[in-house]
Amino acid sequence: MIPSAVPPKYKVEIDRDRCMLCGRCVEECSWGVYRKEKDRIVIYSNRCGACQRCIVMCPRDAITVRKNTTCWRDHPLWTAEVREDIINQSKTGCVLLSGMGNAKEYPTYFDRIVLDACQVTNPSIDPLREPMELRTYIGKKPKKLEFEFVEEEIDGKKIKKAKLKTKIAPNLKLETPIMIAHMSYGALSLNAHLAMAKAVKECGTYMGSGEGGLHKALYPYADHIITQVASGRFGVNVDYLNRGAAIEIKIGQGSKPGIGGHLPGEKVTAEVSMTRMIPEGTDAISPAPHHDIYSIEDLAQLVRSLKEATRWKKPVFVKIAAVHNVAAIANGIATSDADAVVIDGFKGGTGAAPKVFRDHVGIPIEMAIAAVDERLREEGVRNEVSIIASGGIRNSADVFKAIALGADAVYIGTAAMVALGCRVCGRCYTGQCAWGIATQRPELVNRLDIEEGARRVANLIKAWTLEIKELLGAAGINSIESLRGNRDRLRGIGLNEVELKALGIKHVGF
Ligand code: SF4
Ligand code: SF4
Repeated sequence: MIPSAVPPKYKVEIDRDRCMLCGRCVEECSWGVYRKEKDRIVIYSNRCGACQRCIVMCPRDAITVRKNTTCWRDHPLWTAEVREDIINQSKTGCVLLSGMGNAKEYPTYFDRIVLDACQVTNPSIDPLREPMELRTYIGKKPKKLEFEFVEEEIDGKKIKKAKLKTKIAPNLKLETPIMIAHMSYGALSLNAHLAMAKAVKECGTYMGSGEGGLHKALYPYADHIITQVASGRFGVNVDYLNRGAAIEIKIGQGSKPGIGGHLPGEKVTAEVSMTRMIPEGTDAISPAPHHDIYSIEDLAQLVRSLKEATRWKKPVFVKIAAVHNVAAIANGIATSDADAVVIDGFKGGTGAAPKVFRDHVGIPIEMAIAAVDERLREEGVRNEVSIIASGGIRNSADVFKAIALGADAVYIGTAAMVALGCRVCGRCYTGQCAWGIATQRPELVNRLDIEEGARRVANLIKAWTLEIKELLGAAGINSIESLRGNRDRLRGIGLNEVELKALGIKHVGF
């Protein structure tokens, strides 16, 4: 027999002088790290994923979780991760699954871009005294507005009134350019969805339903939910399409471009099965392609069918993963009658993705936004679609930079989950989330307080919105519209010529 156990990633320790043997860690840990045995707590460090639930819940602050760095001999090529992956795959013969976004140390361009601020000759604007326009409209914008004059009789007098002749396509009105990304019910708990839905409604913005249909409990928030149509078509019917504020066709996802999705049968509870319209306990497999889309013309047909089904009242977005030829694909989407193109960068989160895809396929969102915005402008179709960027947006500065690079708005996913308690342990695919977010187990789901969760997510969106106003003011700009694609307010730091050219920005000092 070849022993195949690998050293634990984390080392869990209990300060025995502080521990009062209350057993809280045993109850709280959904991974079975702790077991109570008479007068001691036994620890299984190899089960720990550093989700921190026990540390936070221990009433005596007695638990420490450390990175276990001492066991593997250092080697620059054969890292501990590489060796561990080989051992695991040689044991199981399976594809390695992982959660959250790309974990490789590729450059994060947001951190290599700095912002401008006004000094002396171009005064900044004080957002506490001056109005700042963060309202953002997502959808087609007319190239020009045409008016006609109509005669009206008021108090016996004939008056000529100007009336808008141009037909305006339906747009989503956002009070802040931050939305919450599509994460399906099934992958996430209903409590997590409800908390996020309440938060977006309060903030005047929107969230995505994900591809898992719309649970009845979310109907009161449906006017702030973008319903998704993915390759599995789970939960899709005409009522679903008409209930939401907009529709999004999901072609690809940043964390796993080119492949579909898989919700394991154990997560398909009775409620999930009803919402997805699939049998309880069966795996929910979304195919890699949409079997009715093999060209832009096919895509246009689906876009128009969805518009037809909703009497042309709902904007239709198309979501793609950021891949090498993203600009050309986005250009095609802009000609398909879609109202927005959603680009998801390779640092975008996921509940479950094959590790090889998460870490090696796709391109950074910063490069994708710049390329798409540039191409759509060159082709004269920038007004035909809004650009929504997602995949690794971590703070208000990232939102600001994404918009200055060319996006109209952003989706956040992981950040909203962190606001709900997530500690980015990356094990969402197991369905055992100790924070009640990525699980369907009732005893875990109940841990997530909906009202408190809603408050946290709303606070996050409000805090970022305030910071964006401050950044706009400092840059002497008073609206998101004026920031969009305003790359002159960005400078690269430590980037080479090729990277600067791709981003369309100058280096600091110029
Ligand atoms: S929760 Fe803390 S105090 Fe309670 S048994 Fe665990 S380590 Fe001890
Ligand atoms: S949602 Fe839960 S399982 Fe997923 S990364 Fe966050 S804490 Fe871990």
